[in-house]
Amino acid sequence: ETLTISTASKTYPLYIGDRIRFEIQSFLNNLNGNFSSILIITDSNVEPLFLNDIKTSLTDFENIYSYVVPGGEGAKSFSVFYDLLTYALENELDRKSLVIALGGGVIGDLAGFVAATYMRGIPFIQMPTTLLAHDSSVGGKVAINHPLGKNMIGAFYQPEAVIYDTDMLLTLPEEQWRSGFAEVIKHALIWDADFYNWLHSEIHTLADLRAEKLQYALAKGISVKAQVVAQDEKESGIRAYLNFGHTLAHAIEAGLGYGKMSHGDAVAIGMLFAIRVSEEYYGINLNLSKFKEWFKQYNFPQIPKELGADLLLQLMKKDKKAQNGSLRMVLMKTIGEVETVKVNDEFILNTLIKELEEVQ
Ligand code: NAD
Ligand code: ZN
Repeated sequence: ETLTISTASKTYPLYIGDRIRFEIQSFLNNLNGNFSSILIITDSNVEPLFLNDIKTSLTDFENIYSYVVPGGEGAKSFSVFYDLLTYALENELDRKSLVIALGGGVIGDLAGFVAATYMRGIPFIQMPTTLLAHDSSVGGKVAINHPLGKNMIGAFYQPEAVIYDTDMLLTLPEEQWRSGFAEVIKHALIWDADFYNWLHSEIHTLADLRAEKLQYALAKGISVKAQVVAQDEKESGIRAYLNFGHTLAHAIEAGLGYGKMSHGDAVAIGMLFAIRVSEEYYGINLNLSKFKEWFKQYNFPQIPKELGADLLLQLMKKDKKAQNGSLRMVLMKTIGEVETVKVNDEFILNTLIKELEEVQ
Protein backbone atom coordinates (compact mmCIF):
# COMPACT_ATOMS: atom_id res chain seq x y z
CA GLU A 1 0.00 0.00 0.00
CA THR A 2 1.23 3.50 -0.81
CA LEU A 3 0.13 6.58 1.10
CA THR A 4 1.06 10.07 0.05
CA ILE A 5 2.32 12.55 2.60
CA SER A 6 1.78 16.12 1.46
CA THR A 7 3.21 19.01 3.42
CA ALA A 8 3.74 22.62 2.44
CA SER A 9 7.43 21.97 1.78
CA LYS A 10 7.33 18.51 0.21
CA THR A 11 5.19 15.62 -0.98
CA TYR A 12 6.56 12.11 -0.59
CA PRO A 13 5.41 8.49 -0.64
CA LEU A 14 5.01 6.21 2.35
CA TYR A 15 5.13 2.56 1.44
CA ILE A 16 3.69 0.14 3.96
CA GLY A 17 3.67 -3.62 3.65
CA ASP A 18 4.90 -6.96 4.87
CA ARG A 19 8.59 -7.65 4.08
CA ILE A 20 8.90 -4.67 1.75
CA ARG A 21 12.42 -3.97 3.01
CA PHE A 22 13.62 -6.37 0.33
CA GLU A 23 12.11 -4.10 -2.34
CA ILE A 24 14.09 -1.06 -1.30
CA GLN A 25 16.06 -0.88 -4.54
CA SER A 26 12.93 -0.46 -6.64
CA PHE A 27 11.56 2.19 -4.27
CA LEU A 28 14.80 4.12 -4.68
CA ASN A 29 14.61 3.75 -8.44
CA ASN A 30 11.14 5.34 -8.32
CA LEU A 31 12.65 8.38 -6.64
CA ASN A 32 15.02 9.03 -9.52
CA GLY A 33 17.47 10.49 -7.08
CA ASN A 34 20.63 9.43 -8.89
CA PHE A 35 22.22 8.91 -5.49
CA SER A 36 26.02 8.74 -5.39
CA SER A 37 26.36 6.71 -2.20
CA ILE A 38 24.36 5.55 0.78
CA LEU A 39 24.84 5.93 4.51
CA ILE A 40 22.66 3.65 6.60
CA ILE A 41 22.34 4.81 10.20
CA THR A 42 21.02 2.24 12.65
CA ASP A 43 21.36 1.17 16.28
CA SER A 44 22.97 -1.76 18.03
CA ASN A 45 19.67 -3.62 18.50
CA VAL A 46 18.44 -3.23 14.94
CA GLU A 47 21.76 -3.87 13.23
CA PRO A 48 21.96 -7.63 13.88
CA LEU A 49 18.31 -8.05 12.87
CA PHE A 50 17.98 -6.10 9.63
CA LEU A 51 21.08 -4.26 8.43
CA ASN A 52 22.25 -7.08 6.23
CA ASP A 53 18.82 -7.45 4.57
CA ILE A 54 18.94 -3.81 3.57
CA LYS A 55 22.53 -3.90 2.37
CA THR A 56 21.99 -6.97 0.20
CA SER A 57 18.75 -5.53 -1.20
CA LEU A 58 20.53 -2.38 -2.37
CA THR A 59 21.72 -4.17 -5.47
CA ASP A 60 22.57 -1.14 -7.61
CA PHE A 61 24.99 0.59 -5.23
CA GLU A 62 28.68 0.14 -4.74
CA ASN A 63 29.27 2.67 -2.01
CA ILE A 64 27.17 1.62 0.95
CA TYR A 65 28.34 2.86 4.32
CA SER A 66 26.75 2.01 7.63
CA TYR A 67 27.12 3.45 11.08
CA VAL A 68 25.79 1.79 14.23
CA VAL A 69 24.99 3.86 17.31
CA PRO A 70 24.14 2.49 20.76
CA GLY A 71 20.44 1.60 21.19
CA GLY A 72 18.34 4.03 23.20
CA GLU A 73 17.63 7.72 23.69
CA GLY A 74 21.29 8.46 24.55
CA ALA A 75 22.15 8.35 20.84
CA LYS A 76 20.31 11.63 20.24
CA SER A 77 23.33 13.50 21.57
CA PHE A 78 25.79 16.09 20.32
CA SER A 79 28.69 13.68 20.49
CA VAL A 80 26.98 10.95 18.43
CA PHE A 81 25.77 13.61 15.97
CA TYR A 82 29.33 14.95 15.67
CA ASP A 83 30.80 11.48 15.18
CA LEU A 84 28.30 10.80 12.40
CA LEU A 85 29.24 14.01 10.59
CA THR A 86 32.90 13.09 10.95
CA TYR A 87 32.21 9.65 9.52
CA ALA A 88 30.32 11.19 6.58
CA LEU A 89 33.15 13.65 5.87
CA GLU A 90 35.85 11.01 6.17
CA ASN A 91 34.04 8.88 3.63
CA GLU A 92 33.50 11.87 1.35
CA LEU A 93 29.74 11.70 1.24
CA ASP A 94 28.46 14.45 -1.03
CA ARG A 95 25.24 16.30 -1.79
CA LYS A 96 23.95 13.37 -3.80
CA SER A 97 24.47 10.88 -0.99
CA LEU A 98 21.41 9.35 0.62
CA VAL A 99 20.97 8.76 4.34
CA ILE A 100 18.78 5.83 5.38
CA ALA A 101 17.41 5.92 8.92
CA LEU A 102 16.93 2.27 9.87
CA GLY A 103 15.43 2.08 13.34
CA GLY A 104 12.92 3.56 15.74
CA GLY A 105 12.15 7.16 16.54
CA VAL A 106 15.60 7.75 17.99
CA ILE A 107 17.31 6.79 14.75
CA GLY A 108 14.78 8.68 12.63
CA ASP A 109 15.29 11.87 14.63
CA LEU A 110 19.09 11.54 14.74
CA ALA A 111 19.68 10.44 11.14
CA GLY A 112 17.16 13.00 9.91
CA PHE A 113 19.03 15.74 11.72
CA VAL A 114 22.33 14.55 10.26
CA ALA A 115 20.75 14.64 6.79
CA ALA A 116 19.25 18.08 7.45
CA THR A 117 22.59 19.59 8.43
CA TYR A 118 25.28 17.76 6.45
CA MET A 119 26.31 20.11 3.63
CA ARG A 120 23.15 22.14 4.32
CA GLY A 121 20.95 19.16 3.71
CA ILE A 122 21.14 15.89 1.81
CA PRO A 123 18.28 13.49 0.99
CA PHE A 124 17.15 10.88 3.50
CA ILE A 125 14.73 8.00 3.82
CA GLN A 126 12.94 6.71 6.88
CA MET A 127 12.79 2.95 7.43
CA PRO A 128 10.95 2.73 10.76
CA THR A 129 11.36 -0.43 12.81
CA THR A 130 9.13 0.39 15.79
CA LEU A 131 5.38 0.89 16.16
CA LEU A 132 5.98 4.27 17.74
CA ALA A 133 7.82 5.35 14.62
CA HIS A 134 4.51 5.41 12.70
CA ASP A 135 4.30 8.76 14.47
CA SER A 136 7.90 9.95 14.39
CA SER A 137 8.74 8.99 10.79
CA VAL A 138 5.97 11.13 9.33
CA GLY A 139 5.92 14.90 9.45
CA GLY A 140 9.55 15.93 9.27
CA LYS A 141 10.45 16.83 12.80
CA VAL A 142 14.06 15.79 13.39
CA ALA A 143 16.14 16.55 16.46
CA ILE A 144 18.75 15.68 19.02
CA ASN A 145 18.62 16.40 22.74
CA HIS A 146 20.45 19.00 24.80
CA PRO A 147 21.24 18.26 28.44
CA LEU A 148 18.84 21.10 29.26
CA GLY A 149 15.97 19.74 27.22
CA LYS A 150 14.72 16.97 24.96
CA ASN A 151 14.51 17.65 21.20
CA MET A 152 15.81 21.17 21.72
CA ILE A 153 18.19 21.13 18.72
CA GLY A 154 16.48 20.23 15.48
CA ALA A 155 14.84 21.09 12.22
CA PHE A 156 11.78 20.54 10.09
CA TYR A 157 13.17 18.33 7.36
CA GLN A 158 11.04 15.95 5.31
CA PRO A 159 12.35 12.61 4.00
CA GLU A 160 12.28 11.55 0.34
CA ALA A 161 10.18 8.54 1.31
CA VAL A 162 9.14 6.35 4.20
CA ILE A 163 9.44 2.59 3.80
CA TYR A 164 7.53 0.84 6.56
CA ASP A 165 8.04 -2.91 6.59
CA THR A 166 5.58 -4.27 9.15
CA ASP A 167 7.52 -7.53 9.32
CA MET A 168 10.33 -5.66 11.08
CA LEU A 169 8.02 -4.87 14.01
CA LEU A 170 7.59 -8.50 14.96
CA THR A 171 10.87 -8.58 16.88
CA LEU A 172 9.80 -5.73 19.17
CA PRO A 173 9.48 -6.46 22.89
CA GLU A 174 6.03 -6.16 24.50
CA GLU A 175 6.74 -2.81 26.14
CA GLN A 176 7.62 -1.28 22.78
CA TRP A 177 4.35 -2.48 21.28
CA ARG A 178 2.50 -0.87 24.16
CA SER A 179 4.48 2.34 23.87
CA GLY A 180 3.74 2.71 20.17
CA PHE A 181 0.12 1.75 20.62
CA ALA A 182 -0.44 4.74 22.89
CA GLU A 183 0.29 7.02 19.93
CA VAL A 184 -2.07 5.00 17.73
CA ILE A 185 -4.81 5.57 20.32
CA LYS A 186 -3.87 9.25 20.43
CA HIS A 187 -4.33 9.60 16.68
CA ALA A 188 -7.80 8.09 16.95
CA LEU A 189 -8.87 10.20 19.92
CA ILE A 190 -7.82 13.55 18.45
CA TRP A 191 -9.18 13.07 14.97
CA ASP A 192 -11.17 10.01 14.06
CA ALA A 193 -14.05 8.64 16.14
CA ASP A 194 -14.62 5.76 13.69
CA PHE A 195 -11.03 4.67 14.11
CA TYR A 196 -11.45 4.85 17.88
CA ASN A 197 -14.54 2.64 17.63
CA TRP A 198 -12.62 0.18 15.51
CA LEU A 199 -9.73 0.04 17.98
CA HIS A 200 -12.15 -0.36 20.83
CA SER A 201 -14.00 -3.26 19.25
CA GLU A 202 -11.13 -5.02 17.46
CA ILE A 203 -7.98 -4.59 19.56
CA HIS A 204 -8.52 -6.07 23.00
CA THR A 205 -4.90 -6.93 23.67
CA LEU A 206 -1.60 -6.08 22.06
CA ALA A 207 -1.57 -9.60 20.61
CA ASP A 208 -4.65 -8.67 18.53
CA LEU A 209 -2.62 -5.84 17.08
CA ARG A 210 0.34 -8.01 16.19
CA ALA A 211 -1.89 -10.26 14.13
CA GLU A 212 -3.52 -9.30 10.84
CA LYS A 213 -4.93 -5.97 12.03
CA LEU A 214 -1.56 -4.24 12.24
CA GLN A 215 -1.48 -2.87 8.71
CA TYR A 216 -4.90 -1.31 9.02
CA ALA A 217 -4.19 0.24 12.41
CA LEU A 218 -0.88 1.64 11.21
CA ALA A 219 -2.25 3.05 7.98
CA LYS A 220 -5.07 4.73 9.93
CA GLY A 221 -2.74 6.21 12.52
CA ILE A 222 -0.36 7.43 9.84
CA SER A 223 -3.18 8.97 7.85
CA VAL A 224 -4.27 11.04 10.87
CA LYS A 225 -0.73 12.26 11.39
CA ALA A 226 -0.43 12.99 7.66
CA GLN A 227 -3.66 14.98 7.60
CA VAL A 228 -2.58 17.07 10.56
CA VAL A 229 0.87 17.91 9.20
CA ALA A 230 -0.58 18.53 5.74
CA GLN A 231 -2.58 21.38 7.23
CA ASP A 232 0.10 22.66 9.59
CA GLU A 233 3.66 21.54 8.86
CA LYS A 234 5.45 23.92 11.24
CA GLU A 235 3.08 23.74 14.21
CA SER A 236 1.50 27.16 14.13
CA GLY A 237 -1.91 25.71 14.93
CA ILE A 238 -3.49 22.29 14.75
CA ARG A 239 -0.23 20.32 14.73
CA ALA A 240 -0.27 21.02 18.45
CA TYR A 241 -3.21 18.58 18.72
CA LEU A 242 -0.62 15.83 18.40
CA ASN A 243 0.51 16.86 21.88
CA PHE A 244 -2.68 15.43 23.35
CA GLY A 245 -1.62 13.67 26.56
CA HIS A 246 1.92 14.97 26.18
CA THR A 247 2.00 17.82 28.69
CA LEU A 248 1.72 15.48 31.64
CA ALA A 249 3.66 12.77 29.78
CA HIS A 250 6.72 15.00 29.41
CA ALA A 251 6.45 15.98 33.07
CA ILE A 252 6.37 12.32 34.12
CA GLU A 253 9.29 11.41 31.86
CA ALA A 254 11.35 14.30 33.21
CA GLY A 255 10.29 13.66 36.82
CA LEU A 256 11.18 9.97 36.79
CA GLY A 257 14.29 10.53 34.67
CA TYR A 258 14.23 9.83 30.91
CA GLY A 259 14.07 6.18 30.04
CA LYS A 260 12.52 5.05 33.33
CA MET A 261 9.08 4.85 31.77
CA SER A 262 8.49 4.42 28.04
CA HIS A 263 7.19 7.47 26.18
CA GLY A 264 3.95 5.74 25.23
CA ASP A 265 3.23 4.62 28.79
CA ALA A 266 3.62 8.23 29.89
CA VAL A 267 1.41 9.41 27.02
CA ALA A 268 -1.29 6.92 28.02
CA ILE A 269 -1.29 8.33 31.54
CA GLY A 270 -1.27 11.84 30.11
CA MET A 271 -4.26 11.15 27.87
CA LEU A 272 -6.34 9.85 30.77
CA PHE A 273 -5.44 12.98 32.70
CA ALA A 274 -6.31 15.20 29.73
CA ILE A 275 -9.70 13.47 29.56
CA ARG A 276 -10.27 14.19 33.24
CA VAL A 277 -9.25 17.83 32.79
CA SER A 278 -11.56 18.04 29.77
CA GLU A 279 -14.52 16.72 31.75
CA GLU A 280 -13.99 19.33 34.43
CA TYR A 281 -13.13 22.16 32.08
CA TYR A 282 -16.15 21.72 29.82
CA GLY A 283 -18.45 20.28 32.47
CA ILE A 284 -19.11 17.20 30.36
CA ASN A 285 -18.98 13.46 30.85
CA LEU A 286 -16.49 11.67 28.64
CA ASN A 287 -16.71 8.42 30.61
CA LEU A 288 -13.26 8.63 32.14
CA SER A 289 -13.72 5.42 34.09
CA LYS A 290 -14.48 3.52 30.86
CA PHE A 291 -11.29 4.88 29.34
CA LYS A 292 -9.35 3.82 32.40
CA GLU A 293 -10.70 0.28 32.14
CA TRP A 294 -9.92 0.19 28.45
CA PHE A 295 -6.33 1.32 28.97
CA LYS A 296 -5.86 -1.31 31.67
CA GLN A 297 -6.59 -4.01 29.10
CA TYR A 298 -3.25 -3.18 27.49
CA ASN A 299 -1.42 -2.97 30.82
CA PHE A 300 -0.64 0.73 30.66
CA PRO A 301 0.70 1.75 34.08
CA GLN A 302 -0.93 4.15 36.52
CA ILE A 303 0.34 7.63 37.22
CA PRO A 304 3.48 7.46 39.40
CA LYS A 305 2.09 8.67 42.68
CA GLU A 306 5.48 9.33 44.22
CA LEU A 307 6.07 12.35 41.99
CA GLY A 308 3.29 14.30 43.71
CA ALA A 309 0.99 16.97 42.34
CA ASP A 310 3.23 19.97 43.06
CA LEU A 311 6.26 18.62 41.22
CA LEU A 312 4.15 17.41 38.29
CA LEU A 313 2.57 20.84 37.90
CA GLN A 314 5.96 22.51 38.06
CA LEU A 315 7.31 20.18 35.37
CA MET A 316 4.21 20.64 33.20
CA LYS A 317 4.84 24.36 33.19
CA LYS A 318 8.32 23.81 31.81
CA ASP A 319 6.87 22.10 28.77
CA LYS A 320 7.70 23.72 25.43
CA LYS A 321 4.03 24.43 24.85
CA ALA A 322 3.68 26.65 27.90
CA GLN A 323 3.57 30.27 26.75
CA ASN A 324 4.69 33.09 29.06
CA GLY A 325 4.51 30.71 31.96
CA SER A 326 0.86 29.88 31.47
CA LEU A 327 -0.05 26.30 30.89
CA ARG A 328 -1.68 25.16 27.68
CA MET A 329 -3.19 21.74 27.19
CA VAL A 330 -4.91 19.91 24.39
CA LEU A 331 -8.39 19.04 25.64
CA MET A 332 -11.03 16.74 24.22
CA LYS A 333 -14.51 18.04 23.51
CA THR A 334 -15.69 14.73 22.19
CA ILE A 335 -13.93 11.69 20.76
CA GLY A 336 -12.26 12.82 17.56
CA GLU A 337 -12.32 16.51 18.41
CA VAL A 338 -9.77 18.41 20.46
CA GLU A 339 -8.58 21.97 20.92
CA THR A 340 -5.72 23.80 22.63
CA VAL A 341 -6.81 25.59 25.78
CA LYS A 342 -5.13 27.81 28.33
CA VAL A 343 -5.67 26.37 31.80
CA ASN A 344 -4.79 27.88 35.15
CA ASP A 345 -2.37 26.39 37.62
CA GLU A 346 -4.72 25.94 40.51
CA PHE A 347 -7.28 24.09 38.41
CA ILE A 348 -4.60 21.71 37.12
CA LEU A 349 -3.14 21.23 40.60
CA ASN A 350 -6.53 20.28 42.01
CA THR A 351 -7.22 17.93 39.13
CA LEU A 352 -3.81 16.32 39.62
CA ILE A 353 -4.59 15.80 43.30
CA LYS A 354 -7.87 14.08 42.42
CA GLU A 355 -6.14 11.90 39.85
CA LEU A 356 -3.42 10.87 42.31
CA GLU A 357 -5.99 10.02 44.97
CA GLU A 358 -7.53 7.44 42.64
CA VAL A 359 -4.32 5.46 42.31
CA GLN A 360 -4.63 2.13 44.11
P1 NAD B 1 13.82 3.82 19.88
O1 NAD B 1 14.22 4.23 18.52
O2 NAD B 1 14.79 4.01 20.97
O3 NAD B 1 13.38 2.29 19.85
C1 NAD B 1 13.00 1.66 21.04
C2 NAD B 1 13.89 0.45 21.35
O4 NAD B 1 13.57 -0.61 20.46
C3 NAD B 1 15.38 0.71 21.18
O5 NAD B 1 16.07 0.01 22.18
C4 NAD B 1 15.67 0.09 19.81
O6 NAD B 1 17.01 -0.32 19.70
C5 NAD B 1 14.74 -1.08 19.81
N1 NAD B 1 14.29 -1.51 18.50
C6 NAD B 1 13.99 -0.74 17.44
N2 NAD B 1 13.47 -1.49 16.46
C7 NAD B 1 13.45 -2.76 16.89
C8 NAD B 1 13.00 -3.98 16.34
N3 NAD B 1 12.43 -4.03 15.12
N4 NAD B 1 13.12 -5.09 17.07
C9 NAD B 1 13.64 -5.05 18.33
N5 NAD B 1 14.07 -3.93 18.91
C10 NAD B 1 13.97 -2.78 18.21
O7 NAD B 1 12.48 4.56 20.35
P2 NAD B 1 11.06 4.82 19.70
O8 NAD B 1 10.09 4.50 20.77
O9 NAD B 1 10.87 4.17 18.39
O10 NAD B 1 11.11 6.39 19.46
C11 NAD B 1 11.26 7.30 20.53
C12 NAD B 1 11.92 8.54 20.01
O11 NAD B 1 11.10 9.11 18.99
C13 NAD B 1 12.12 9.62 21.06
O12 NAD B 1 13.43 10.11 20.99
C14 NAD B 1 11.13 10.70 20.65
O13 NAD B 1 11.59 11.99 20.97
C15 NAD B 1 11.05 10.50 19.17
N6 NAD B 1 9.81 10.97 18.58
C16 NAD B 1 9.89 11.82 17.53
C17 NAD B 1 8.74 12.29 16.92
C18 NAD B 1 8.85 13.18 15.74
O14 NAD B 1 7.84 13.70 15.26
N7 NAD B 1 10.03 13.38 15.21
C19 NAD B 1 7.48 11.89 17.38
C20 NAD B 1 7.43 11.00 18.44
C21 NAD B 1 8.60 10.55 19.04
ZN1 ZN C 1 4.58 11.21 21.56
